[in-house]
Amino acid sequence: MLVCVGSIAFDTVETPDHVAEEVLGGSANFFGFAASLFGPVGLVGVVGDDFPESHLDVLRSRGIDTAGVQRVPGRTFRWAGRYLDDMNVRETTNLELNVFGSFDPVLPEPYRTSGYCFLANGSPAIQERVLDQLHEPKLVLADTMNHWISGARDEVLHLLRRVDGVIINDEEAMMLAGRTNLVAAARAVARLGPGIVVVKKGAHGSLLVAEGGVFPLPAFPLEEVKDPTGAGDCFAGAFMGYVARAGDRSVATLRKAVLYGTVVASFNCEAFSVDRLRTLTTAEVEERARQFADLLRT
Ligand code: AMP
Repeated sequence: MLVCVGSIAFDTVETPDHVAEEVLGGSANFFGFAASLFGPVGLVGVVGDDFPESHLDVLRSRGIDTAGVQRVPGRTFRWAGRYLDDMNVRETTNLELNVFGSFDPVLPEPYRTSGYCFLANGSPAIQERVLDQLHEPKLVLADTMNHWISGARDEVLHLLRRVDGVIINDEEAMMLAGRTNLVAAARAVARLGPGIVVVKKGAHGSLLVAEGGVFPLPAFPLEEVKDPTGAGDCFAGAFMGYVARAGDRSVATLRKAVLYGTVVASFNCEAFSVDRLRTLTTAEVEERARQFADLLRT
């Protein structure tokens, strides 16, 4: 099983054309939907008593295990963001941690030997508490964000020495490495501990560093982007789902995983919240992966 520890949220998303209020979001949700296309996935997160059971039913209907989702008194985590005309630029307009602020992840017993784990964006201290509960994992990847890199740098560096890889965005890689050249930054992050580094560049694709090699991939060309929220977590979900299913971490597998991460993230951008993911099928993913591979052939 692939385990993801992260946020479960109500998101309010504003784009130039539309506002979606209090819709299902959070890193664990996006990750879970994407990863479930490749194999079994379990989520560890926390919701408040305002979180409808029907949302958890939707996750379960996709085969996602929710045994690690705690329900506690209080309000669920809320996040709001606004996209500028250039949909690559987003500002956070509201962040209410609520029950996520005192989240203490507890992995159900079967999750502890699961082998594959993604530590979605969260405090490095909490991410390490998850690591402490894992028994001989095969692959652990982590995400982080500027808030932690600037405010808890030593803790982030400590975490990086304990994980196998990171999936972060371009700004985060540059901040972590203190370099503005992205290739140099990604390689420098790999030298901080995690041998596998995936740098996401939004509509400009991604860069994988593994075993000393650097492998760039463009984004899937979409003419219309409705809502990119969660694209990074979908990328991570499909990437790790693919690697867990393949059962190895060779460069060839990781490069294929980046392709699937890119494809599933592109589907997510076609609708708000998890709306496109709810009905996405493996056949659709395979078809777009074929199209994309054809486009890349020169
Ligand atoms: P992405 O677009 O991939 O960066 O993911 C956006 C998702 O991350 C949204 O659904 C938010 O609910 C969630 N999110 C935003 N900020 C945070 C945070 N500080 N901690 C955890 N999750 C967050």
